[in-house]
Amino acid sequence: MSQLHEQKWEACLKVIKDNIPLQAFKTWFSPIVPVKLEGDILTIQVPSHFFYEWLEEHYIGLLKKVIKKELGANGRLEYSIIMEKNATNSTPYTVNLPTSGKSSLKNAPVTVPLNVNENEIRNPFVIPGLKKVNVDSNLNPSYSFENFVEGDCNRLARSAGYAVANKPGGTAFNPLLIYGGVGLGKTHLANAIGIGIKNQFPNKTVLYVGSEKFAHQFIDSIKNNTTNDFIHFYQMMDVLIIDDVQFFSGKEKTQDVFFHIFNHLHQNGKQIILTSDKPPVEMQGMEQRLLSRFKWGLSADLQSPDLETRIAILEKKMYGNGIDLPKEVVEYLAYSINTNIREMEGALTSLLAQASLNKKAITLDLAKQMIDKFVKNTAREVSIEYIQKVVCDYFDLEIEILKSKTRKREVVQARQIAMYFSKKLTKSSLANIGAHCGGKDHATVLHACRTVNNLSETDKQFKTYLTDLEKKLSMQ
Ligand code: ADP
Ligand code: MG
Repeated sequence: MSQLHEQKWEACLKVIKDNIPLQAFKTWFSPIVPVKLEGDILTIQVPSHFFYEWLEEHYIGLLKKVIKKELGANGRLEYSIIMEKNATNSTPYTVNLPTSGKSSLKNAPVTVPLNVNENEIRNPFVIPGLKKVNVDSNLNPSYSFENFVEGDCNRLARSAGYAVANKPGGTAFNPLLIYGGVGLGKTHLANAIGIGIKNQFPNKTVLYVGSEKFAHQFIDSIKNNTTNDFIHFYQMMDVLIIDDVQFFSGKEKTQDVFFHIFNHLHQNGKQIILTSDKPPVEMQGMEQRLLSRFKWGLSADLQSPDLETRIAILEKKMYGNGIDLPKEVVEYLAYSINTNIREMEGALTSLLAQASLNKKAITLDLAKQMIDKFVKNTAREVSIEYIQKVVCDYFDLEIEILKSKTRKREVVQARQIAMYFSKKLTKSSLANIGAHCGGKDHATVLHACRTVNNLSETDKQFKTYLTDLEKKLSMQ
């Protein structure tokens, strides 16, 4: 007879199985082992931190539902994670994590007019009076300072953020505007500041909100005649974080209402943190008076991280997930995706998922296949020079010799191969390719392409050269 926690988990699994694809079930739920049931808390063991995050990200809604169904309204789930310290010391240790560990980021209830509904702020009936509501800070607990890698690319923004977190409203950085391109860490840093504040000043009411959500709430409030409540609600915050304010562009009324909220908060020494994809001077469609307010504090930018920082970010992410990847794989990832951290992390996640799904070890080859898929959309065009370099490296020739007029057999062959790939992989004309390869004319290039095609069909060794080179070229 199985124990109660096993029965309960079995019952949960039954429901889950009916609700997700079989492959996903096998990958993410079959490896889970129920550990114990204490009161309303069911503890399950998952193989890694990555696993835990994946479940929380993709299946939390479903998990909450089944737990509630099986354990009642107060039912809770806790994860026990086996952490492999490293490859040599394999003694596992476990960490226990509750579902959505956001508890420390909770705000104390704030007093708002009676008709304000914490998230929705829409109630058409204006009833005088006040009530206490809970304001969810909306902070993402994994976007902490601890998880934010410092590098030259983000030093100013990070230090300013850190200063703000230690003294919200009490520094010259008010507002603090963090700007930078997509996926460079604006949202992460903005959250980190909020988390830092919540940790040190638990009584402060912190609210993180995306600018689009803010704008929608505002429009709803107009529809429902509750604009005053909307304004009042935001004016209650001690720390207001608005992400991606560039979306306010062209929305005059939203800017107007934000202007009033901004002034109120600023005058009362409350902290405002904003992020944007561009600096204030480049924001189009934004009212001048608002832009000038943005410049009151500090605008700090986030740049693309250099290779070392990218590697450090990947390593941190892996460490946090209890994963170890071969160094060459990490370097390859960091090297290949060099502008957008989100994309780089996405590639890492896909790689891990791919490896878990197929139960394959993560090798450089698997990484290369993955990355190819990732960067295909942004396909970098191969240049004739690059092809020449790869071909020369392969045959151990000086590039100058390839470009010369020499008719030595091995040089002629390498030159023809370089021409062949230039025709195949670039948009250059035959004449242009010829010009790059020892001043040949277009007929010579055409002849080279034919020769290479013929040889590849008759000469096995030659065919191997081509396949090797093709691989190298497609992986640049
Ligand atoms: P943005 O808001 O600028 O588009 P995000 O804040 O969403 O970018 O960052 C994209 C991803 O990159 C997130 O997963 C974030 O955790 C990660 N990231 C960005 N910068 C860093 C950093 N310095 N250290 C660690 N992770 C980072
Ligand atoms: Mg963002």
